[in-house]
Formats: sequence, structure tokens, C-alpha cells
Amino acid sequence: DTLTPVSVASCFDYALRLFQARLNEGVVSVERHWPDEAVWVRAEPVRLEQVLVNLIGNALQAMAETTEPRLTLTIVPEGKRVRIAVIDNGPGIAEADLPRLFEPFFTTKSTGSGLGLGLSISARIIDDLGGRLEAANVPGGGATFTITLPRDFGPE
Ligand code: ADP
Ligand code: MG
Repeated sequence: DTLTPVSVASCFDYALRLFQARLNEGVVSVERHWPDEAVWVRAEPVRLEQVLVNLIGNALQAMAETTEPRLTLTIVPEGKRVRIAVIDNGPGIAEADLPRLFEPFFTTKSTGSGLGLGLSISARIIDDLGGRLEAANVPGGGATFTITLPRDFGPE
């Protein structure tokens, strides 16, 4: 595995391009909240992209029945770390499920539509980079998945 400086925003852009067809339907509004200057982390680009694709895919699935679905993506530099969040306004996560979300094969989706591996693999990838992946409910409704990673200074 080769760690290189990766711009978090460019990973989000990559992930959003994968969901372009769905997002172009114009039903889901996408809010990108990040600084103009690139925020860097040290990662394997393909793996970080995979994590963001998993989180955005889950958010879009969770909002399938939501009247005005809104996907919010944020990148917040905080000193030596960066906080990356994928926020939806879907139904949120049942309290009883919160402790089990990151277990391999945990899924609440019907057979065939979810393997239940996305979050466990994502958490493993983030752990390996010295970071954390956490889930929480949004007070007004919806879920937030937050990645915290050490910041990098970017390519010189
Ligand atoms: P899968 O998507 O295959 O079910 P994941 O590991 O990606 O597996 O997610 C595990 C479970 O976490 C999901 O089945 C769902 O119950 C819950 N979950 C993940 N993301 C969200 C979300 N944005 N809103 C509500 N529940 C979620
Ligand atoms: Mg999933």
C-alpha cells in the first residue's frame, strides 16, 4: 500500500461523479461545505474514495423515501486533524443498531440489497490511517458519519 497526499475534496468529487446519474435527476440536493484551499490527508486515494462512496451510497439509500432529500458533505480542518462528514436527512439509525453498525455483515437491508460490509471495511480503512469513523443521529432527523484523520501538508 502506498500512502500519498490526497485532497479530501477531490475524493468527494470522485465519489459524487460515481453517483452522477442519480444526482442529476435533481431530487437530492447536495451541499458541499469545504474550504477553497485543499485539505490534505495521507492515504491511498482509491481506498479513501471507497470509504466516501460507501458513506454516500448509504446516505442515498437511507433517503429513498425522504420527501426533500439533502446530502451534506463537509470538510473541516481542526488543527492537526481534519473532520470529514457525510450527513443525510433520512430516517436516522435506530438506537439499538448504533452499537452494531460497524460489525461485519450487519445490515438492516433486505436480502440481496445490502451485504453489510461497507461500514466495517470503511472503519478498518480509516483505523489503518490512524483515524476514526463514527456514526450519530442528527437531532432533527437523519444520520451523520464522521471521519477524523490526521492532516497532511500536501505535495511540495
Ligand atoms: P449495507 O449498506 O450493505 O446494509 P453497511 O455496512 O454499509 O451495509 O451499513 C450497515 C447498516 O448501517 C445499514 O444496513 C443501515 O442499517 C445502517 N446505515 C448505514 N448508513 C446509514 C444512514 N445513512 N442512515 C441510516 N442507517 C444507515
Ligand atoms: Mg452500505
